[in-house]
Amino acid sequence: GQGLVLANRARSVSAGWSRSMSAVPNTKLFINGKFVESKTTDWIDLHNPATNEVVTRVPKSTQAEMQEAVASAKEAFKTWSKLSILTRQQVMFRYQDIIRKNMKEVAKSITTEQGKTLVDAEGDVLRGLQVVEHCCSVTSLQLGETLPNISKDLDTLSYRLPLGVTAGITPFNFPAMIPLWMFPVATVLGNTSVIKPSERDPGACMMLMELLNEAGCPPGVVNVIHGAHDAVNFICDHPDIKAISFVGSDQAGKYIYERGSRNGKRVQSNMGAKNHGVVMPDANKENALNQLVGAAFGAAGQRCMALSTAVFVGEAQKWLPDLVARAKALKVNAGHVPGTDFGPVISPQAKKRICDLVQSGIDEGAKCVLDGRDIQVPGYEKGNFVGATILTDVTPSMKCYKEEIFGPVLITMNVDTLDDAVELINSNPYGNGTAIFTTNGATARKFTNNIDVGQVGVNVPIPVPLPMFSFTGSRGSFLGDAHFYGKQGINFYTQVKTVTQLWRESDVTHSKAAVSMPVMQ
Ligand code: NAD
Repeated sequence: GQGLVLANRARSVSAGWSRSMSAVPNTKLFINGKFVESKTTDWIDLHNPATNEVVTRVPKSTQAEMQEAVASAKEAFKTWSKLSILTRQQVMFRYQDIIRKNMKEVAKSITTEQGKTLVDAEGDVLRGLQVVEHCCSVTSLQLGETLPNISKDLDTLSYRLPLGVTAGITPFNFPAMIPLWMFPVATVLGNTSVIKPSERDPGACMMLMELLNEAGCPPGVVNVIHGAHDAVNFICDHPDIKAISFVGSDQAGKYIYERGSRNGKRVQSNMGAKNHGVVMPDANKENALNQLVGAAFGAAGQRCMALSTAVFVGEAQKWLPDLVARAKALKVNAGHVPGTDFGPVISPQAKKRICDLVQSGIDEGAKCVLDGRDIQVPGYEKGNFVGATILTDVTPSMKCYKEEIFGPVLITMNVDTLDDAVELINSNPYGNGTAIFTTNGATARKFTNNIDVGQVGVNVPIPVPLPMFSFTGSRGSFLGDAHFYGKQGINFYTQVKTVTQLWRESDVTHSKAAVSMPVMQ
């Protein structure tokens, strides 16, 4: 059964590690519950970031295939949305169990296609799995409201109803977690879904589809198409798609938000970030520096919640040498090698962009106190590795501060007071996440009260809320109204219908029509 299918898949992904590869497998489409080979002539080679060997070829789906995926989702909606809520919830109960059992297999695929360490890849799956677990309480989450006797014998009820076909467009950096932010929430509420995973690492999403079949989800409820710009435009324009969830870069996020909205769709866009970690002189030094290093360099800095900017307040500036020592000690290697702290970045282009941004910082006057740009990883000479890099004395006008680096690069800035740190962070256009390290409750409260950032950590470096809350990035990091998962995710994927009903207790027969304005008294 399932174990075997996954094992086969795992064997094909492990091909990415071998030197001699005869046939590279193609990534399939997932339409109406079946894995189908694309008829396209346009394929994207997907490389293992640690070796740059081709792991699989990803199709740019044809228009006909994408039409078929939406048609399948539209057809499935008719029956899926009418099933009892308990039946849909049961699929999620089974799904969470099956994902948990296959977590290691999915993680292996992530490491092969995306490069992160196996431990980190399991975290990627787990944070998505927690959303599926939350979907198992949809019977409470989807409750509407009622108010009886708004006027005599008159009640109003509200229902939270699905929208229809929804779509998800996902980035490369969390190939399991981010699809799982989308289709489980959408579908448990009665919607159906078309997902376009990142063309750079769709393997985890495909495994999640195998597991979804195993969980007994009916065909067509979730479909997967592949591609890049054409697939995105198709989603933004298709009249049967009612809502789009996007996570990725600013450029794509703004474009999708505008194009989707113009076509009357609901859109939620989670985008880029520049997250600051404020280190107060009263912080627990060991803890603060370890957390900072983990959050700056973990996953090679390719997290939208990476703490990519350290802001040292006053005397804390003296801790810089300790910070550098900790960063220097991190082990960079292929993600499947035990003991690795972080792996390669996604592509040679990403590596070049990161190295160029570091150079721009140096050219503009920053000091490079730890330079990982020329790192060599024995056995993986062709990989896209960048070692831990630290730029100090960075100022807000520098390009390396203004742009999201999205690599294992920590920039540090010095300020005199907490107020200065707050002002610096609030002046940055992004509002995804921030953290403060302090042992003083008053300082922490002042920071949380005055900081204009959607997700704030106090002695917590990457404050991504669990799914009973929502992912609440703000300002330049988010476009839309309702956020991902949690109660806001439920709002995003439902529309409210209110029913106002009059049943006269006295059962009177009216002899005359009332023509004056109803005043509901
Ligand atoms: P990306 O924008 O390049 O790709 C995301 C998706 O958009 C992909 O499916 C891709 O095919 C599509 N796409 C790419 N360029 C496009 C364009 N010009 N027009 C239309 N569609 C396009 O993002 P990425 O490099 O895969 O991911 C990294 C980015 O995602 C970073 O900026 C990171 O901060 C952000 N991110 C944000 C969050 C969050 O929750 N805020 C989470 C993860 C990643």
